[in-house]
Amino acid sequence: MDIFNSIMPNKKNGFKLSSVIWARCPACHQGKVTDGLFSIHKECSHCHYNFHPEPGFYLGAMAVGFFFTALVTVPPTIVLKVLNVDLVLLITFPFVEFLFVGTFLLFYCRILWLHLEYQMTRRLDGNPPTEHHL
Ligand SMILES: [Zn+2]
Repeated sequence: MDIFNSIMPNKKNGFKLSSVIWARCPACHQGKVTDGLFSIHKECSHCHYNFHPEPGFYLGAMAVGFFFTALVTVPPTIVLKVLNVDLVLLITFPFVEFLFVGTFLLFYCRILWLHLEYQMTRRLDGNPPTEHHL
């Protein structure tokens, strides 16, 4: 992402979209962030970067995730209602949407949240942590 790299003079541990997609550590791009679909590791197994900088850190990400899930669920449901589809489909659709799309969005919202936090605090601190140059 060019916008992040242009803000950050040090490109070595800048923002990497591939690390978000593969759910890797924002600092070293090596260690896995998640343990399964729902839990997040305490710290990076590779560089020991703390994945839980404060209690309730991921609540904001979950709020954003729920917001986007509602955004992709409610309008299609209204369209289905307007189109007068079968009642079973009308009831099943939001559940399926929340279960699959919702899980997917929540997963990536948290990864992206962690990566953005890493980039923002690095910027505020002024000096990138040297122990992450692995
Ligand atoms: Zn790491």
